[in-house]
This record gives sequence, structure tokens and C-alpha cells, in this order.
Amino acid sequence: MSLTDSIRTVKGIGPRKAALLEKMSIHTLWDAMECYPRDYEDRTRIVSAAAAKEGEKVSVCAVVGTQPLTKRIRKGMEITRFRVFDASGTLTITYYNNRYTAAGLCEGQEYLFYGRIQGQGTQRTMVNPVCEPILDDRQPPRRIVPVYPLSAGLTQKDMQRVTEAALAQGIQINDWMPDDIIARHALLPQAQSIWCIHRPQSMQEVERARKRIVFEELFLLSCGLARLKERRVDTVGYRFETGSPEDVWTLLPFEPTGAQQRAAQQIWQDVRSGKPMNRLVQGDVGCGKTVLAAVLCSLAARNGYQSAILAPTEILAAQHFESLAPLFARQGISCTLLLGSMRARDKQQRKMQIADGAVSVVIGTHALIQKDVTFHQLGAIVADEQHRFGVAQRAALFEKGNAPHMLVMSATPIPRTLALLLYGDLDVSVVDELPPGRTPVATYAVGQKMRPRIEAFIEKQLRAGGQVYVVCPLVEEGELALKSVEEHKVTLQRALPHRKIGILHGKMKAQDKEKIMDAFVSGELEILVATTVIEVGVNVPNATLMVIEDADRFGLSQLHQLRGRVGRGTRQSYCICFGADKGAQAKQRLEVLCKTNDGFEIAQADLAQRGPGDFFGKRQHGLPLLKMADLAHDLVWMQQARLEAEQLLRQDPTLTQHPALCERVDRLFETDNQEIFN
Ligand code: ADP
Ligand code: MG
Repeated sequence: MSLTDSIRTVKGIGPRKAALLEKMSIHTLWDAMECYPRDYEDRTRIVSAAAAKEGEKVSVCAVVGTQPLTKRIRKGMEITRFRVFDASGTLTITYYNNRYTAAGLCEGQEYLFYGRIQGQGTQRTMVNPVCEPILDDRQPPRRIVPVYPLSAGLTQKDMQRVTEAALAQGIQINDWMPDDIIARHALLPQAQSIWCIHRPQSMQEVERARKRIVFEELFLLSCGLARLKERRVDTVGYRFETGSPEDVWTLLPFEPTGAQQRAAQQIWQDVRSGKPMNRLVQGDVGCGKTVLAAVLCSLAARNGYQSAILAPTEILAAQHFESLAPLFARQGISCTLLLGSMRARDKQQRKMQIADGAVSVVIGTHALIQKDVTFHQLGAIVADEQHRFGVAQRAALFEKGNAPHMLVMSATPIPRTLALLLYGDLDVSVVDELPPGRTPVATYAVGQKMRPRIEAFIEKQLRAGGQVYVVCPLVEEGELALKSVEEHKVTLQRALPHRKIGILHGKMKAQDKEKIMDAFVSGELEILVATTVIEVGVNVPNATLMVIEDADRFGLSQLHQLRGRVGRGTRQSYCICFGADKGAQAKQRLEVLCKTNDGFEIAQADLAQRGPGDFFGKRQHGLPLLKMADLAHDLVWMQQARLEAEQLLRQDPTLTQHPALCERVDRLFETDNQEIFN
């Protein structure tokens, strides 16, 4: 056998289990070896039978002292008990619905029992422990047991089998990590790290092995991203020699902030450089990113190129169109809107204008990505709120031009360190300044008891001439515990019978959505009860209060985004989050929001609490899947790995002197990201 052999060759793994493993992307012994445990049961903590305390998960080495006794306590529930002892005293062992484990034990024989202790005094017992016979002092049972990720139908034993088979092959890996890096960071040799991650002798070994594997993943990733950036630098891009950001600035009713000017300068420099721009503009909600899109599109148009603005929702696309079209018109630049929900004939006509170059700027949703949309000469792309787009979608638009300039705008303030890794292939502009005259949104976390007072507060805001958003988590049926938008409107209407309330959610027809939105913008509707469809971009400066129901169900960054919908005018605005009465953790989370208005700080807290998987949605960032590294907690190693990667590539840009590493780096991106950057 070798590591490239199929797991179907492993003894004890039948075709059914093999198929299940293959669903988890474990096809070969090599894959099995790279399937790392997600946790460990540390059975090295052996305590005496008498000392084991309630709540602890521990090992006890003890002799079976009594015959197991099984009782049926009710239908479908069987309980088996027996007592074990060691020099210190005795302990009761309890199994629920599992008489067979106990039946296999011999009275008078010593075993290692590993499990959680429940109860105190006479009730004290170890529940459902795993047990292994202690056969021989020289061969203690394995004391740290890996816990592998599983899918239904597979057991830990199966994973033990396949990893055992892989490890038995000896690990003939070409350690491609340069020796000096290994030395500088005191990393374990690769083979040893793999051995220790699967079959550790101590938790310290696990830690050291983990460090090596995490470092390796992040180092590879950094090398890969740095190389992608290199490749991009080699490509020729359009030069936008004519025009300047001033063309847009002079048309605005306000002065651009310093941060906006800096970002615009960077964009301007990029598009004159002769290389395709690939820039991320990051800035908190309301910092004014839209005008930067206008700057880019206007530069493109002045130089005879088309440009496209891709927005994640129809509402946002329509809003961009409304605010930008007049701005472009005053420069003599034509602009059109393309939405999926438009009538076929309407769309057809617009597509023709796009194809023959009759319009310069195209604003739209995913409709822009469709195959039948072709551009005459696409010179620049703006992807707004990019975390909502998959990498593939961005790529699809990219391919409609010939290395167009790319501007990605995100309001999810990704912690800087993480952005560097995620967008190692992008240049980043940070717009870290809000337009003047904004007062921070005052935020309060409240419980149900406050509801009457909040309703009175809504009334007060309306009387003062403001408008109110109320956000509910979901409209799906089935999630009955959560307030649906419709239901909530009825309740609210009962409390405020004389107020005009509208509803908005993702399942409505686009036309209806537009009508409602228009009515809210014009002030005809006073309260808008909505789902998170309003999260992105919506701009109604007159709205002064946002009430978020079941706020504990949202991520912090998302709540921050939502809150950004108010506080856009000159009046003091408020955000009320229900959910503070849903336990200490919920309360604590919501309080982060009350304390700070800094999106970056909130993002960092969010990331630490939820991990990057939830933070970005499922693989939306388009990075290769990391098997071990955790972007939320391994930031320090990430920085070190990145520095090492940069240094190495400076010395050996093509990785010719590191062929094994080069091969790994190429493999990393071959399936996922190739399409985007070539
Ligand atoms: P976001 O970064 O969230 O996309 P927008 O571009 O939607 O922010 O801008 C939010 C609001 O601030 C808009 O109404 C916009 O007209 C206004 N705005 C943008 N820049 C400035 C500025 N420099 N001074 C005053 N208002 C501005
Ligand atoms: Mg925006």
C-alpha cells in the first residue's frame, strides 16, 4: 500500500463506509492523513475513584467490583449500573441503553474508564464512559484519543482505522518547508507533526504539532496569494489618462472627506499605471464609498470605456442608479440599470445598448453576470458590498472584459490583519473617516419587559418627524418562535393604530419591494417592518430609529450594518436591540454594540466569537479551505507566516529553488482560484 491508495483498500472499511468517507473528500490514505482531529479526549488525567468530582471528564483506573445490573426504568430507557474500586474508594458506573459494554467486562479485572462525572454524594456516578482493559503495565491504553470530524454513518473507530492505515505507511513526505524557517520558528519536522496530531502522547505534543501544521497552511496560503499578485502585475491594463477625481468632486453638494480623497487618489493612480487595478475599498457603513465608484466610472467613461457597478440587491442597485445617474448625466455620461426582475423586452433593449456601447455605465445585480450580457468595451468593474458575492461571480464579470480594473467595496469591516491575508492579492484602501456632522447612533440592548416603553419611543420619534425601521430575523415558516415580518406588523399596528406601517422582505416581488421602498423614502410610510433586505446600502436620512427584534440571532457585524441605516441625517438616531433577556451571553454580545460604533472593533469581537466560517458565510471569501488553521485565533502565526513567505519570494520569486514548495503552492489554487486571476 502507499499513501495514494484508495481508502477502499483499508481493512474493515466496506464499500458503504468508503462511499461515506469519499463524501467527506477522503479518497486516499493521503486524504485520511490530512483529516485532522477536531478535538481530543485527554485520558491522561487519571484521578482516584474517590476524588473524581461532579462535572469533570476524567479517567479512572479501577477494578470492576460488582455484577452489572440492568433495569428498565421506563419504555425505551434501560439503565445499567455497577461499582468499581481502586485504592482510594469506589465509584458507580452508569450506562444508559447500553447493557452490552458492561456485559463485556469481567469482575475483578482492571479497566480504564473515561467519562464525565455526574451527581454528588451517593448519587455520584460516571456516565456512559468508554472503557479499555489495562492488560499490562508496559502497554497502557492509549491515553489521548483523537476525535475526528464525522458525517452520519461513520464512527470514530472508522476514522481510527483509516488514519491508522495511513500512518502505518510511514510518512514519506518531502518536507518542503525551508530549513531556516523551520529553525526560526522551532517547528516540528513534518512527519513528526502528522504523527503527533493523530497519535499524541500528550497535549503538549498536540500543541506543537498543531503549530507546525497551522504555520504550514498559512505559509502556503501566503506564498500562493503573493504569487497571484505577481501574476497580476505582469498583465497589461487599460490606461485612463484623461480626467481626474476632480470631475466628480466639483459636482457633489458636499466636500469629500480626507479619506475619500486619499482613496480616490489611489484609484486614480492605479488606473493610470498600465496594470489592472485590483483594489478593495473598506469602510464602515455611511463613510461614503459610493462616490468612489462614481470616480472610477467617470474616469472610465472619459477614456472611452464602459464600466459596471454590481450590487447585491435590486433595491441597492436601484438606489445607486438614482443617486449616480444624475451625477453622470451632468458629465454627459450615459447610464443604465439592469435588473433580473425587469420585463424581458426592457432587458433586451438595455442589453443591446450595453453590447453596442451606447451606454457607458451599467448598474445592476446578478443580472449583469448572465451569459447573454456582453459589453462593448468593459474597462472597469465595481463590486459593491463584496462579501455578498462569491468569488466566482466576481470572476464571471471580470471575464466580460479584457483585464478590466476592479474595485471591490466592502462595508463589512474585516479586521485589518485578516484582510491582509484574505486579500493578499488585493491592494486595500481604508476609508476611516465619516462625513462631518454625524452623531453616533445611540444603541440600547433591551428585554421584552421594555416593549411598552419602546413602542412609546417609536411614537415619540415619529412625532418628532422621524421614521422608523423595525427588523425581524426571518420570514420563513417553521421558525415560529421568531417574529415574522407580517405578524409583527399586525402587532405593531395594534399598538400604534394611527401610524402607517409597511412591510418589506426578500420573498416579495421586486415591483412590490420597489413600491414599498419608494413609499418609505417619500415619507408616506412611517414605519418599515423588514427583514435584513434593508441591511445593505439603503439610504433614508430621515430615519432616526431602528428597532431590531431577536437581535441575539444576528452576528454583531450584521447588527452594525443594520444600525448604519439610521444616523444618516443630522438628528440624533437610536438603535434598540431586543434580546438582552436571552441569557448572559446574548446580553454580553449585544453590549459590545452599545459600547462602540467602531466597525473594526465590532468585527474583531464578532470574529472571535463566531469564527471566520460564519463571519464570511460559507467559503464566500473564496480561499482554499484551511484544514487546521483558524483565522480567528491564529492571527499571530498568520503574520509570521506571511512575513516568511514574502521574504522567501523576494529571494526566489519563481520558487525555482524550492520545487516541492512550488508544487504545493500550485496545487493549492489549481481548482479554486485559477479562473479568477488568469
Ligand atoms: P457607504 O460607504 O455606506 O456606501 P454612502 O456612499 O451610501 O456610504 O454614503 C452615505 C451618505 O453619505 C450618502 O447620503 C452620501 O451622499 C453621503 N456622503 C458621502 N460622502 C459625503 C461627504 N464627504 N460629506 C457629506 N456627505 C457625504
Ligand atoms: Mg454602500
